[in-house]
Amino acid sequence: MYIPYGHQSIDNEDIQAVVETLKSDFLTTGPKVAEFEKVVASYVGAKYAVAVSNGTAALHAACYAAGIGKGDEVITTPITFAASANCALYCGAKPVFADIDADTYNIDPEDIERKITKRTKAIIAVHFTGQPCDMDMIHKIARNHNLVVIEDGAHALGADYKGKKIGSLSDMTTFSFHPVKHITTGEGGMVVTNNKELYNRLILFRSHGITRDATLLSHNEGPWYYEQLDLGYNYRITDIQCSLGISQMKKLDKFLLRRREVAKRYDNAFADNKNIKIPYQLKECNNSYHLYTIQVLNYDRRQVFDKLRSIGIGVNVHYIPIYKFPYYRDNGYKDIICNNAENYYEHCISIPIFYGLTDKEQEFVIDNINDLCR
Ligand SMILES: *Cc1c(COP(=O)(O)O)cnc(C)c1O
Repeated sequence: MYIPYGHQSIDNEDIQAVVETLKSDFLTTGPKVAEFEKVVASYVGAKYAVAVSNGTAALHAACYAAGIGKGDEVITTPITFAASANCALYCGAKPVFADIDADTYNIDPEDIERKITKRTKAIIAVHFTGQPCDMDMIHKIARNHNLVVIEDGAHALGADYKGKKIGSLSDMTTFSFHPVKHITTGEGGMVVTNNKELYNRLILFRSHGITRDATLLSHNEGPWYYEQLDLGYNYRITDIQCSLGISQMKKLDKFLLRRREVAKRYDNAFADNKNIKIPYQLKECNNSYHLYTIQVLNYDRRQVFDKLRSIGIGVNVHYIPIYKFPYYRDNGYKDIICNNAENYYEHCISIPIFYGLTDKEQEFVIDNINDLCR
């Protein structure tokens, strides 16, 4: 038996949807891309959506659309997947790391304030594990300093911030549809926004910076004519992938319900164990539980981790603070330390949470963790 920390759920309906697209006229950009965008935008409460090839491309596109470039600084958290910071580097900008809050593990607005300089252009807020960041404070800071807010919502599809879905709140929010995330397209990503101008820039960036839109052309040489207006990429997603995404979206609420049920059961199971710190409960928000991370206290994290792996529990560590990677250390981040992030990293273990996790499997996880950390 091996229980992974996360796993996709694909049913016959999903398979059928993909097969139908394979038999259709469009394999890549066709009707399914627009339909998938519409479904996600309407679910999260955003006006516009641009589907791209993966969540990293979505972050890159968002940074581009925000006009982030050489000389700019972008503030983000070190406790996230590398892509949340790499996207600033892709645009020639410098990621600046603000420490996390010791309770929520999300970026600490007070440390954002401390890290702001004349060069700061944007904040990338990552809703770590699906727990919403303090968006009221982040928006307030952004307003005061005229900053763009991009939310990395890779963990937060379906999460609520004070009654509003993540994706409806900021200039742009990005999602990922990698198989470990809430829904999957294999590889896939999306940027959502309420701003038409940003939307137009995202569309351009997704496909080489090339347009056929007559209103954007400098002149028109005929029906074949198109122009490259800026340097974009091929970040397109296929109709094959989007047909899977559309089918998966029908099950998102069911997936979320189960993830929250699993989380609640872990909360209860570890509540009385003083050697385990469970995730913080934000009162006004609804965590989407992409991950469930515990802090192992009074015991050696490595030993607990190795033991769990050895009995077939696919625990993981999310995340190594980004500034500790050799690439970052070699490029000016050698002396960076975020104390709360370091402390979090030293004790964290991600334990299995996904739609298909059975009660029995979860019981096995719970019993073993409580035995090891008694
Ligand atoms: C998964 C993830 C990404 C990147 O998504 P991909 O689709 O794998 O490129 C970005 N940020 C966070 C926080 C993620 O978890």
